[in-house]
Amino acid sequence: VTKIGVLTSGGDAPGMNAAVRAVVRTAIYNGLEVYGVVRGYTGMIEDDIYHMDSKSVANIIQRGGTILKTARCKEFFTPEGRLKAYNNLAKRGIDGLVVIGGDGSFNGAQRFSNEFDIPCIGIPGTIDKDIAGTDYTIGFDTAVNTAVNAIDKIRDTADAHDRLFVVEVMGRDAGYIALHSGIATGAEKVFVPEAQTDIDELVASLTEKERRKKLVNLIVVAEGDKFGGGNEVGKILKERMPNADIRVSILGHIQRGGAPSCFDRLIASRMGYYAVESLLHGRHNVMVGIVNDQMNYIPLDTAVKEKHIFSDEWLHILKVLAS
Ligand code: ATP
Repeated sequence: VTKIGVLTSGGDAPGMNAAVRAVVRTAIYNGLEVYGVVRGYTGMIEDDIYHMDSKSVANIIQRGGTILKTARCKEFFTPEGRLKAYNNLAKRGIDGLVVIGGDGSFNGAQRFSNEFDIPCIGIPGTIDKDIAGTDYTIGFDTAVNTAVNAIDKIRDTADAHDRLFVVEVMGRDAGYIALHSGIATGAEKVFVPEAQTDIDELVASLTEKERRKKLVNLIVVAEGDKFGGGNEVGKILKERMPNADIRVSILGHIQRGGAPSCFDRLIASRMGYYAVESLLHGRHNVMVGIVNDQMNYIPLDTAVKEKHIFSDEWLHILKVLAS
């Protein structure tokens, strides 16, 4: 490779900027030219692509969001859209691509590189942590810490009023933010998309704890849980426990913003560095992950097909600790 493109795609995640910086600086260090593609695949199709130098990524390692902007792009699902995108890369001589995003973005990259001879390297950037072949994804640590800080605050007011709070955190298809923040804040229960929660059992346990005056004030729900999110869970619990003072709080987009944690900056820097190294070593269509603190390369299609395994054991630990 001699010229590479870098883009961020799908949902934004804190730490994406640190990854962009690492890709750009590593590429330039190795004598490659780098182009930034704006708004993910949309910029590739609309030819919103610019030359980057070392200064282009100055002063961004600590910033949330992504300087390259991100988008979801319908046109990239079509062969015509992908051809347009290819032509825009080809006319600049771009012969390698680094895609920072989630599983959807890797799907797109995989398709694109099957059709055209441009190696694509994926960097897992998503707050959801739902990608196989890596222990962590960029943005998860920051998002879950934001959730924990917010839930701690809710707990103070819940405690003052003896209220039970149902807090909804992000996670349409994955329950990791709910699981981790639930354990870390001492929640009574977490509701996740990966597992069915037994409401009867929960109500029985809440009633029993009420009887022995155990303080219970927190239930954490992923937005995509089996009941349909925090408001739904709140409604069901209010019906089942009419005497309890139950409130719902939806944390929402604050979980995506803010300065990336040290951990996210670190993994983003390492993944960005190794993504460029991969291209230099002739690797094609792999995702750069970290497993047991070592770099791990898995084919993009495996990263997409294989689901990150959700640990039921953690749900059990939460139950034991809340007893
Ligand atoms: P997150 O999980 O954080 O939402 P993501 O990368 O999974 O991030 P998606 O919206 O699923 O986000 O995908 C991003 C973009 O990737 C899509 O808008 C589309 O342009 C492209 N893409 C996804 N799947 C495909 C596919 N099968 N073929 C072509 N392009 C795709």
